[in-house]
Amino acid sequence: MILNVIKCGHPTLREKGKRVERVTPEVRQLAGDMIETMYAANGVGLAAQQVGRTLMLAVIDIRNSEQPSELWRDNQQQDIPSQMPLVLLNPRITASEGEQTGEEGCLSVPEISAAIRRAARVRVEAQDLDGQPFCIEATGLLARAIQHELDHLNGILFLDRMDAATRASFEGKIKKLQKQTRAALKAKQ
Ligand code: ZN
Repeated sequence: MILNVIKCGHPTLREKGKRVERVTPEVRQLAGDMIETMYAANGVGLAAQQVGRTLMLAVIDIRNSEQPSELWRDNQQQDIPSQMPLVLLNPRITASEGEQTGEEGCLSVPEISAAIRRAARVRVEAQDLDGQPFCIEATGLLARAIQHELDHLNGILFLDRMDAATRASFEGKIKKLQKQTRAALKAKQ
């Protein structure tokens, strides 16, 4: 089922996700729906906050991007398509190194994209949909997508990572979007 993606100005986007203690059928269903929603929106990642759920759950699929990435799972380099979509439960970045700057957008902040500085390589510990812990390392776009989605799980938006001048240049657009979101929320109540 395709879920509604909430937009900037919605308070849930600023909430930290709760740990997923047990992989229930509901959690599996939510992960499946999030993957479907991400594909429908042509996104490369989606966090539970973006569909209005405050859980430590994110999905990623970068296989159709031309931007390069590398992925290691339990220290073995992987063929990227074989690992997509990636479902991350309770993910944590346990190490990061280097620096990369690249263009980012967000399904919750339409019509805005900007160059964001991120770590070049990250190591992530998470659980899969069987509740099994695993460890991955990623570079390139995948590392960027992981950092973007993990920010969402902690209530952080890519807007918060822009340099001050870039952020200021989008201030009018952001304010307008927040206003629209709040008006739509109010109308629903
Ligand atoms: Zn986003």
